[in-house]
Parts: sequence; structure tokens; C-alpha cells
Amino acid sequence: MRAEPSPARSLDLSRESPVDACVSSARVRYGLALMSTDSPLLSKRWPWLTAAAVVLLVYLATLVEVGRLDPDDRPVGTSEDIAALRERDDLNVLFIVIDTLRAERLGAWGYERDTSPLLDRLASQGIRFDRHLSQSSWTKCSMASLWTGLYPARTGVTRFEQVLSPEAKLPAEILSEAGFRTAGLFRNGWVEGYFGFDQGFDVYTRPVGRPAAPNVRRQNPTIKEVGTDIDAVRASEEFLRIYGHERWFLYLHLMDVHEYLYDEDSARFGTNFSDIYDNAILHTNFILDQLYDHLGREGYLDHTLIVIASDHGEAFGERGIEGHARFVYRETTEVPLILSLPFKLEPGVVVDQRTANVDIWPTILDLLGLPAMQGVDGHSQRPSILAAARGEDPPVRDGPAYAHLDQNWGKRGSIEAPTVAVSDGDYRFVLTQEGGRGWRQELFDRRHGAAESDNLAEIESEIAARMRAVAEGYLESEPPWQGRVQDLEIDEIKLNQLRALGYQIP
Ligand SMILES: [Zn+2]
Repeated sequence: MRAEPSPARSLDLSRESPVDACVSSARVRYGLALMSTDSPLLSKRWPWLTAAAVVLLVYLATLVEVGRLDPDDRPVGTSEDIAALRERDDLNVLFIVIDTLRAERLGAWGYERDTSPLLDRLASQGIRFDRHLSQSSWTKCSMASLWTGLYPARTGVTRFEQVLSPEAKLPAEILSEAGFRTAGLFRNGWVEGYFGFDQGFDVYTRPVGRPAAPNVRRQNPTIKEVGTDIDAVRASEEFLRIYGHERWFLYLHLMDVHEYLYDEDSARFGTNFSDIYDNAILHTNFILDQLYDHLGREGYLDHTLIVIASDHGEAFGERGIEGHARFVYRETTEVPLILSLPFKLEPGVVVDQRTANVDIWPTILDLLGLPAMQGVDGHSQRPSILAAARGEDPPVRDGPAYAHLDQNWGKRGSIEAPTVAVSDGDYRFVLTQEGGRGWRQELFDRRHGAAESDNLAEIESEIAARMRAVAEGYLESEPPWQGRVQDLEIDEIKLNQLRALGYQIP
């Protein structure tokens, strides 16, 4: 449901923010208080004690500044603290989507390269969902499912001109009604407000794209975007400077991995396309380090839930396919999901049964004790989290999970050509319409190899037939909206912005 923006709640983060003026404002305020001649610390009776206290405090502040003291001073929590999150009324939500992030390229998912030290640490002290599925391999379709908790056939958003229904009740609306100040800062044009993704946000904008630093390399030749994800981090700091004293929900949609963007510090893994992708993940990790340190210095970490998610993965020649937005095999749909709580878990919790992006918001709202989304396909994973944290058996998942792409999503006036993957237990069944040649069906069993390269559809024909019926039933499902899903008349300016992301749109 779309609400009229309130003039009192306007903040223009699309303009350059006076970031230099607000770096570590808490520390500056603290320093000023110490230096004030009115300060009770500057007691005339105890000048030596005062001087010693000042020296000690300055020393401690310096230690934090140079990173020798960890600004992450969150307490250690237990499964009962997870259960009690519902009772807390002080929690903020930071929701970070790292576009195009394939789970198995992170150390926390077993990758041998050290691409993601911060994300690995958050996972090891928080909740990691080991087998997590995105609902498409193309941003707009996938994000429509992530926000609505509905699978793509039910969002009605599978084509480039389709708009998310204003009847949808999105998480930002629920959070806004619960009193959160809501902001979305995105660098991917597929989640623009004109596609319906701004519902519930007080502020929804692209951060200004400032020229990248001279040592930044952008290796995706099709990308013509300006700016980098550091712009989103700086705009976040500005948002927190103004609204950080309220309860807030901040959504960041980062793009440097999608753009294969990295710099000298992150150029560690080689020069081929796959290596450069790893460089870009490390680069993004370093950028998130800056944001995380800012949250620590400003004292947010013990009352903020941080969520790290992605809209799809990336293929590197498996099955002869590269990139994303073409198929829904494991390479482009197995994505990370990490919840970092306002306390550390020792050890961290791993949810190892199948979960999906449609589950994310039902889970977050349930964890926080906020009103649930109605009529959604996703399930709250709170019971799975608590079971894993308590060392109990996980609850049984209710039904399979789906990933879906209309292969003709970018072709104006074309007919639908769906490919859908049904994930159930160890099996993944992929049904793909092949132009005029009918349907191709593939059945994979991860027990036959994690790469899922052997098509078992003929050998295990009974399972294939059963899962095909499930896939066909899924494709017949329909959106819950009363009104017809609207198409957008996309003008040439908007189309050029989307083409600048590297997508082929006629
Ligand atoms: Zn994407």
C-alpha cells in the first residue's frame, strides 16, 4: 500500500552529504566536553587526577580509533536472548543487500579464499542460513519476492515493465507503522521507486554517485554507472547523524560486486573474471568494515539487527553459462543470508535446512515481535533458529522452495518462457521452456555432487515426474492482488539507466 510522503519526514540523501563534518561525531562531542573549562572533570582540587583521567580517556579513544580495541562491544547472548528479542522496543534494523553475491564465494560457506572476513565474523557470531535460495536470478523479479514474501508467479513481477502492486503490504510499511524511521538507499535501477519498491519508505533514493577514487578499477565492460558503494555508506552515516536517535530501518542495496569493482587493497586473487569477482567481494567487505566501525563508534551495535542478503548469485561457465538473469540453476540462486544480532552468539547458530528469500521478512518481523505479513508464501524461520540455538531437531519445512525466471523478461511484447527450479530436500528439479521445442527437464541430487552437473531425470523418473507436477502447479499460481498488476511506460531515460547496468533491453 502506498502512502503519501509526509513533508516533515523528508531528507534528501541524493545530494552530497557533509560527511567530513560528521565523522565520528560522538568522539568529537566527547572531546569537546572534556576540554570545556566548565567540566567538573577539571577540578581545581584534584588537577593531577583530572589530568591523568584526561590522558587515559584520550589514550583509550586513540586505541579505538586505530582499531586496537574492538568497537564491537556487544554482550554475549543465548538462545533465550534470541527468544526475548520480541520483548525489546529499542532495536533498529539494518538490511544490506549485496547484489550478485554467490554464497559459496564466502569463507563462512567454506570458500578457500579469504574474501569476506567481516561477513564471516558476523556469521560466526550470529545466525547463518547454510542452504538459502533466492527466488530469481534477475534483480527486479528476485527483490519483488524478497520484499513481498511471495514467489515470482505470485508477485506478478517477472517482466521488465511490470510494477509491484500498490496493494502489496511491504515490510517498510509495517515498520513505518510500528514507529521506525525508514530509509532505502539503492544503487540498482531495478529497485527504483517507480517499480513500486518505495512503499513504506520515508526516504527512498539513490545516493549521489561521486567519482570513484583513482585506484578503483571497474572490470565489467558493460557497466556505465558512476559512483561506488562508498556513496551508500556515506549517505547511511548522514541518515544516522540526523535520525539515529529515533528507531530506524535502513535498507542498503550495494552494487560493487555486480560491477566487479575493486581497488589496490582488494586486488589479491588474480586477473580472470572469476578472480576479479572475488576481489570485488573483498572490496565490498572493506567498505562494510567502514560502516560497521561507524555503527560501533556511535554505539548502535547492541541495539541493531543487521541482515546480510543477496538477490542472486553469478555463474562462471558452469553448463556453458556466465553471469546471471538467464537461468535459475544453483550458481545463480544459492545466496547467503546472515543475521547479526545485538549480541554475540558463542558459538554462532547455523540453520542448515532449506530456506529462501521469501522467508526473510516473515522471520525478521517474527523475531522482533512485529505484525506478520498476511497471506505470504514464506515462513518465519524463528522456530528453526531457536531449535538450532538450543541444539534441538529442526522443524520440518513446509513444502518446497522455488526460483523462477521468465527468460523473455527483457523482450518487449514477447510471450512468457519460464524456467523454474523446485528445491526439495536434496533434490533440485529444473523445468525450462525452450522456445518452440517444448520443455527441458533436469533433476539434480546434491548427494551426487555439489556442482549438480548430472541430470538424473531419466534415471530417477518417478521423482522427476512428481517434481514436474509440483513445478507445473506452481506456474499456475496467481497474484493475490484484486486489481491487475500494472505495467510501467518506461521512457528512454529510464531504459538507458537500466541498460547502464549492463542488461540487454531492446
Ligand atoms: Zn541483482
